[in-house]
Amino acid sequence: HVIKVETKGIESFKGSAENKTVLRIQAGENWDDFVDHAIEHGLAGVEGMAGIPGTVGAGPVQNIGAYGQELSDTFVRLEFVDYETHEIVILDKADLAFGYRDSVINRGRTGLITWVELELEHFGGLSAPISSGQIAGAFGAQMGDQLPLREVADSVKKMRATKGMLLSDNDPDSVSCGSFFTNPIVSHTFARTLPEVSPRWETLEDDGLTVKLSAAWLIENSGINKGFSLPGSKAAISSKHCLAITNRGGATAKEILQLANYVQLQVSNRFGITLVPEPNLISF
Ligand SMILES: Cc1cc2nc3c(=O)[nH]c(=O)nc-3n(C[C@H](O)[C@H](O)[C@H](O)COP(=O)(O)OP(=O)(O)OC[C@H]3O[C@@H](n4cnc5c(N)ncnc54)[C@H](O)[C@@H]3O)c2cc1C
Repeated sequence: HVIKVETKGIESFKGSAENKTVLRIQAGENWDDFVDHAIEHGLAGVEGMAGIPGTVGAGPVQNIGAYGQELSDTFVRLEFVDYETHEIVILDKADLAFGYRDSVINRGRTGLITWVELELEHFGGLSAPISSGQIAGAFGAQMGDQLPLREVADSVKKMRATKGMLLSDNDPDSVSCGSFFTNPIVSHTFARTLPEVSPRWETLEDDGLTVKLSAAWLIENSGINKGFSLPGSKAAISSKHCLAITNRGGATAKEILQLANYVQLQVSNRFGITLVPEPNLISF
């Protein structure tokens, strides 16, 4: 069975400090509309995630994130219909055990999210401190600066559009599931074996032992160019960004997977890293 959650509504409550507000968002709300609502009310904490397609209820499943923000940064709790116990339970941050594009639900705890609570902050119309080099660069600002909320979201959407990561009827490169692979997290020791120019960032957990690599860079530098497709296949690498696999019209799931497997093989042969798919592959 497939359940399509279409419950709507956003309620607000007092947060844990004077300048904080908790929003309870029904799972069927569109994520980007919700981000817009938050910005409209001067609430910061999700503006870097403007333009991510999908519903609010799906957000915690893979702990959606972009441009230096993750849903888990502002997450308070959610309501969950637990398919195993048949009970309605409230799960908090510890219960969700969030990771990078991951949560306990993604790892197999089955059930339905009905609403999600996030705690956002008022900074007088400014964003949360910028934690994305790309946003800082776009504004000529420093990391940690706070910028006008709406302008940050608009700039994120512009950057997403240039990468084909903003859904648009006019952009065939947006006919994808977004990033097909997660950015690999490897030890510093392993990272030192890679070319020095390969981009790397400290991981959010920042335990000092691991770094995050750019899957897009690894793909491009394993010899796969933007727009690449296997002979006769209707699946192709986006012409704007190496990390997205697009359907050029009528591609089968098999064609998408063949291309994904080819990418994994190339990257593994060249760099010794097995890229992990971000989408859930069902029945494969
Ligand atoms: C162009 C493009 C760009 C993207 N960019 C990003 C990005 O920058 N960052 C990012 O993190 N993701 C990104 N994604 C991925 C996608 O936006 C997220 O995975 C999003 O959360 C999917 O929402 P959905 O409502 O379509 O969920 P679906 O794809 O329908 O479901 C995703 C998973 O969540 C489960 N699920 C959905 N709703 C519920 C619920 N209410 N209760 C329990 N389980 C539920 C489903 O069973 C499934 O396992 C992108 C996708 C595209 C197409």
